[in-house]
Amino acid sequence: MLSTFVASSLSLSAPIGVSRVAQSRVGCTRMSDDEPWNSNAQSSTTLDKSTLEAAYDAAMNAPAPAAAGGKQDFLEAEPYWDQSTIPVNTYKNKAPFVGKIVSTKRIVGPEATGETCDVVMSHGGKMPYWEGQSYGVIPPGTNPKNGKPNSVRLYSIASSRYGDDMTGTTTTLCVRRATYWCPELKADDPAKKGVCSNYLCDSKPGDDVKLTGPSGKVMLIPEKDPNVDLIMVATGTGIAPYRSFIRRLFVEETPFGEAYTKGSGLAWLFLGVANSDALLYDDEWQSVLKAHPKNFRLDYALSREQKNKDGGKMYIQDKVAEYSDEIFTRMDNGAHMYFCGLKGMMPGITEMLEGVCKEKGLKWEDKLTQWKKAGQWHVEVY
Ligand code: FAD
Repeated sequence: MLSTFVASSLSLSAPIGVSRVAQSRVGCTRMSDDEPWNSNAQSSTTLDKSTLEAAYDAAMNAPAPAAAGGKQDFLEAEPYWDQSTIPVNTYKNKAPFVGKIVSTKRIVGPEATGETCDVVMSHGGKMPYWEGQSYGVIPPGTNPKNGKPNSVRLYSIASSRYGDDMTGTTTTLCVRRATYWCPELKADDPAKKGVCSNYLCDSKPGDDVKLTGPSGKVMLIPEKDPNVDLIMVATGTGIAPYRSFIRRLFVEETPFGEAYTKGSGLAWLFLGVANSDALLYDDEWQSVLKAHPKNFRLDYALSREQKNKDGGKMYIQDKVAEYSDEIFTRMDNGAHMYFCGLKGMMPGITEMLEGVCKEKGLKWEDKLTQWKKAGQWHVEVY
């Protein structure tokens, strides 16, 4: 049993940036409190006893992972596109699930505007979710404004239902650290920083994390049609649900992925950020592009590095506008269009689409009603 556990915990820790030293320590079960005098032998990511126990629990309770090179199909509905069994609000505010942080890493370059982190947590297989859903996170502490425990914040899930390690026991979030720029101080005011995002971005492997959900059905994939076009528009961390989609479509051998890559559907990702250092998961998109040029397309809007057709900053709506005719045609042929990210992205997008409608002699309100009625229009902005 120990060998199973060691293998599982190693595979759990391998992709998360735990150092080789820490990994071998897990295997040898030499923990920080065994050798507190040997500080050089410790690393800040050395797993402590509670993490080890949680990893053990997760390994013991996890469904069998797909065999190497095998199919990723142990968390599928029957048939796989049937959304009637999707888990919703399994854990509520009053009785949240307590997961464990597996890894937290900054995923933007030095010139990025702000900090964004990839946060992986273990739910031990007890908090399953589907692509496009969100988790709630209840940060520790109380709200000084009312003396009550801090309230829940929602985060779109950035991994597929199988998790990045494909065991069905982990969840990835993509979190931007919320800071407050004080115009008088002309600096960040740490007293006004965002509670939950800072808690998550500062979290360490092994930390407890109170989770609610999963929630949301707005951003699901209509998997019944393997030829469906999915037009995904994101600003910043709005990339999260699309990472879950793209992993399901192109990275894992899921039944839907298999059908999609054989079909004619196009998954088209638009991502808007300030500059190339602020791009999120670019290496992953490049690999998918290489492997699936027929079914995947990628367009970036880098507001501080690119110019739109009028010589202004390239915002997300300007990039989408470059393809407006093709997008309209695809939408009229049944494509689904998704928007996720900051609320502020939507006025620019709708204004642009309204303009395109006018040029085509169409009424934007009618078009939008038509797309909404057909379930082709998906918006999750915050
Ligand atoms: P809060 O503590 O709630 O503060 C909010 C803002 O107010 C911060 O910018 C803070 O700096 C500022 N502030 C604090 N005190 C003051 C003050 N005294 N005066 C002025 N300003 C102040 N976020 C992501 O990063 N990734 C996601 O994938 C994601 N998905 C989401 C999905 C949904 C469906 C929704 C609704 C939201 C999502 N969010 C996501 C946003 C997330 O839920 C939080 O709103 C965000 O992280 C900020 O929460 P916080 O606790 O850090 O900030």
